[in-house]
Amino acid sequence: MKPQRFSITPPTGRSEIVVGDSITHLPAALAAIFPPTTRFTLVCDSGVPKTVISGLQHKLVAQGFSTQVMGIASGEASKTLRQAGKMYRQLAQDRLDRKSCLIAIGGGVIGDMTGFVAATYLRGIALVQVPTTLLAQVDASIGGKTGVDIPEGKNLVGAFHHPRLVWIDPSLLKSLPKLHIQNGMAEVIKYGAILDAKLFQTLEAQADDLLQGYSPLWDPIIARCAQLKAQIVQKDPTETLGMRALLNFGHTVGHAVEASNGYRDYLHGQAISVGMFVAGYLSSHLLNFPDLERIRLGTLLTKANLPARVRRPIERETLLSYLQRDKKAEQGSVKFVLLKRIGKAVSGQAIPEDVLDAALGMSGL
Ligand code: NAD
Repeated sequence: MKPQRFSITPPTGRSEIVVGDSITHLPAALAAIFPPTTRFTLVCDSGVPKTVISGLQHKLVAQGFSTQVMGIASGEASKTLRQAGKMYRQLAQDRLDRKSCLIAIGGGVIGDMTGFVAATYLRGIALVQVPTTLLAQVDASIGGKTGVDIPEGKNLVGAFHHPRLVWIDPSLLKSLPKLHIQNGMAEVIKYGAILDAKLFQTLEAQADDLLQGYSPLWDPIIARCAQLKAQIVQKDPTETLGMRALLNFGHTVGHAVEASNGYRDYLHGQAISVGMFVAGYLSSHLLNFPDLERIRLGTLLTKANLPARVRRPIERETLLSYLQRDKKAEQGSVKFVLLKRIGKAVSGQAIPEDVLDAALGMSGL
């Protein structure tokens, strides 16, 4: 696939997204954007192969850039204010100034953390995202949402801070474990379900091969998802107009499942898969979403080894309290994103209590 470029133009400046170009070309792209005096810190997930990091560092140094590397332990437990505090101190000791730039190399955890630190260190420095998980390539690296978790909840502290550049090299997924391909597949299926019936059909046709791990078949799919995300963010950069809310299909229940389990038992994609099954049921009952299409959605999720039901029941009261707390709850009533058909979603749907009760029951909730 020829590399594809998209851009988002939030009020704070242009954010460019390049999909399908090798990470070996990133230093030249950076040199075209940043002056030669720029100091870069590569913030790297410990799970990303060392050769990827050292190769990039080597080329940046050869390009004449001052370059530091900061390794961060993989996993959600790193996405904390404590970790942010350590990073601020290291950046200050390395004398990063306001013209410096952080490059996040990793999945959504590293992207969110690094983005948050870039948004707040010296009241904001430049950020580049190099996503290395499927979930981060199709979703988390694009759109400027950054944040950290606190014991009271996930992503409760954060800021909008758009990366100057998002460099998506799908071949970095070669080393990604299958479990995380499946995890990201949940978001990919979501894009097809809410916005693009053709993408959904392609996923149905190619699922067996795609789920084996990275192959060039992934390139146009990742590019299409990145483009859809960029288009939505461009229309609704700070999630105030309702359009960006469409991306929350499956997330209302998904977030509640994750939270009720203390963010330990389910990967994000697994939790939103349960949420998509619930939303599919609600869509059939409230918006005449055709049964055949609901079955297609369920079949594709199941093929990706994504669950329809929770593994253990969650006390209804606990679940409802998390549903109410979800950011999508407006004035106390929980609103859902539902499907009219595959490729066409609507947000802000209020759900009668008895229908919600039946839908949650179908997923063992
Ligand atoms: P993750 O960042 O924890 O990465 C998953 C695992 O993959 C980790 O163990 C990591 O070490 C490993 N890994 C990463 N790249 C690898 C590679 N190329 N090869 C081998 N292993 C690799 O998980 P994730 O699913 O990418 O991201 C989840 C996070 O993203 C959550 O914190 C979630 O809140 C956040 N998120 C943010 C947004 C947003 O818009 N900002 C959107 C969705 C999710």
